[in-house]
Amino acid sequence: MKITIFGTGYVGLVSGVCLADLGNDVLCADVDSKKIALLERGANPIYEPGLQEKLDQNTKEDRLSFTTDLGKAVAYGDLLFICVGTPASKGGSVDLQYVESVARTIGQHLDHDAVIVDKSTVPVGTAEKVRTIIQQELNKRNVKHAFSVVSNPEFLREGAAVNDFFNPDRVIVGLEQGDERAKQVIGKLYKSVARTSRPILFTDTKSAELIKYASNAMLATRISFMNQLSRYCEAVGADITAVSKGMGLDTRIGSRFLHTGIGYGGSCFPKDVKGLIGSIKEAGCDASIFEAVDSANEAQKRSLFSKIEQALGTVKGKKVALWGLSFKPKTDDIREAPSKIIAQWLIDNGSDVAAFDPEATRNFKEAFPKISYGKEPYEPLQGADLLILVTEWDVFRNPDWARVKKLMSTPNIIDGRNIYLGYREDLKELGFAYQGVGVGDDA
Ligand code: NAD
Repeated sequence: MKITIFGTGYVGLVSGVCLADLGNDVLCADVDSKKIALLERGANPIYEPGLQEKLDQNTKEDRLSFTTDLGKAVAYGDLLFICVGTPASKGGSVDLQYVESVARTIGQHLDHDAVIVDKSTVPVGTAEKVRTIIQQELNKRNVKHAFSVVSNPEFLREGAAVNDFFNPDRVIVGLEQGDERAKQVIGKLYKSVARTSRPILFTDTKSAELIKYASNAMLATRISFMNQLSRYCEAVGADITAVSKGMGLDTRIGSRFLHTGIGYGGSCFPKDVKGLIGSIKEAGCDASIFEAVDSANEAQKRSLFSKIEQALGTVKGKKVALWGLSFKPKTDDIREAPSKIIAQWLIDNGSDVAAFDPEATRNFKEAFPKISYGKEPYEPLQGADLLILVTEWDVFRNPDWARVKKLMSTPNIIDGRNIYLGYREDLKELGFAYQGVGVGDDA
C-alpha cells in the first residue's frame, strides 16, 4: 500500500518506519525542516530502541522517504495518517490546531480517493471535524473525491515503541457508519500487524477516540492511587511494595501499574488526563475522579521536596546529583518529566545540580543549560551531598556502591523508584542514609 504519514515525532516516525518494514511504501512528511533534513541524512531525531536499524534498512530499500512538501505528501498516499501533536491548550482542553491544519492541507491538495487515518490522540468528535474541514476545502476547489475518516488511536509506549507496533495488545479502528471500504482497507493493513491472537476492534469513531483517553486515564488512575497510598504508608510505617504485591495477586486487580514513584510524566498521561477533564466538563459532566488523579500526580511530583530537606537539612549550597532525566527509561523524552520539577526546585533553592542520563541529556540541556552533566553515571557524584535516583534506567540498577560512597561528600540516597529497596539494609550498613517512596522507616 502507499502510505503518507503527517508528523514525524515519536508516533509518526515509528509508525512510518514500521509500516515500511511491513513492505508498504511510506512517505513521511513534517513541517519541521530540520527533522526532515536529519532523516534524509539517515539520522534519527529521537531515541527509540530498534528504530535506527529499521530506518536505515527501509530507506536503503527505497520503501521509506521524507519530505516537507505537504502537497506532494497528500498526492502520494492512498492512506493518509495524521500523527501530529495534540498538546494541552491553556484553558485545559486539547489544542487541535495541528490536526486541523493537516486536514486543511489534505482538502487543499487531495486529487484521488483516500482513507484518512487519525492516529493522534484527539477528543471525541474530532473525526467529524476533520471530515468537515476536508469537505469544505474540496468544495472550495469544486472537486469531488471519496474519502473516509478513520480513528485509529495509538497505544505504543516510548522506549518499547517498535516492539509495541508489531505486538499491540489490540488495534482500535473507529469507522464512520457503514464505511465498509475503509474497514476493508484498514483491516488489510493491520492484519499483517495483528496476525497473532491480537484483536482488531472495529467501532464507531467517537468510541475509538474515547478508548484512547479512557485507557490512559485508567493507567494514570492506578499510578495516582498507589502514589497517594504510598504517602499514607510512609505516615503509618507500612510498606507500599508489600501492599502492591498483596493487591496485585488478586486476579481481578492484577499486578501491573501498581508501582509507586515520583509521579507520572511524559507526553501522554498528563496531557490526556487534563484533556479528558476538559472534554468531560465541556459536555457538562462530572470529572471529579480524573481531577483527583491529576492533582494527586502534581502533589506526588513535589513529594520529594520534603525528603530532600530531610536528607540535607539546608538545601542551599549543597550539591545534588540526579540519576535519570527522561520521564521513563529507554527514551530521550523529557516532556512533563518529574526530573524537571525536581531540578527547578533545587536550582530555586540554591543547590548545585549535576546529572547523568544515558539518552536525555541533550534535551535536558536545552531546558537547563546551567546544570553540569556527566558523561557517565559516576561523574556527577563527585562531592555530592545527595544522590536522587529519578529514572530507573538499567545502568543505575547495580552500581559500585563503594565507589559511589567514596565520590560523594555525604552518602545520602533518595530512591525515587524504589529500585534499591531490596537491599536498603546493606546500603545502610555501608553507611548510606536511604529514603525510598512509600516505605515507613520500620517497614
Ligand atoms: P511529537 O510532538 O513528537 O511529533 C509531532 C510532529 O508533528 C512534530 O514533528 C511536528 O513538527 C509535526 N507537525 C506539526 N504540524 C504538522 C503538519 N501540519 N504537517 C506535518 N507535520 C506536522 O508528537 P508525538 O509524541 O509523536 O505524538 C503525536 C500524537 O500521538 C499526539 O496526539 C500524542 O498524544 C499521540 N500519542 C503519543 C504517544 C507517545 O508515546 N509519544 C503514544 C500514543 C499516542
